[in-house]
Amino acid sequence: MSGHSIFTRILDGDIPSEIIAETENAFAIRDIAPKAPVHLLVIPKTEEYRNVVELAAGDPDLMAELVGLANTVAAEHSDGDFRLVFNTGPNAGQTIFHVHAHVLAGGLEEKSIG
Ligand code: 5GP
Repeated sequence: MSGHSIFTRILDGDIPSEIIAETENAFAIRDIAPKAPVHLLVIPKTEEYRNVVELAAGDPDLMAELVGLANTVAAEHSDGDFRLVFNTGPNAGQTIFHVHAHVLAGGLEEKSIG
């Protein structure tokens, strides 16, 4: 059993999941249990950062690369508008402690937060 995260194991090809886009330091997959018409995940290739707070403090350029990849896949898979969600901590629903952003798109207008 690997000590690596599920996302590292997907990136390494040990768990099957199509990589739908990638940049030098990040990649995108479809969420296995979609919560929106379009539900993608954008993930740094490194598993060094457990959550978005660590990522933003530790590597702002990688944070920006991740947001850019979210924008790219939202344009490719929906109309370009999207919601970006980083669950941060178990009480907020985070289950995988390798930072990732949920890209939610398609038909969200009735469920706006705020
Ligand atoms: P979290 O709850 O940590 O914010 O998000 C983890 C997400 O990863 C969940 O939405 C879950 O459905 C997704 N997920 C968990 N295991 C897999 C998997 O093996 N493949 C894919 N594509 N998504 C997964």
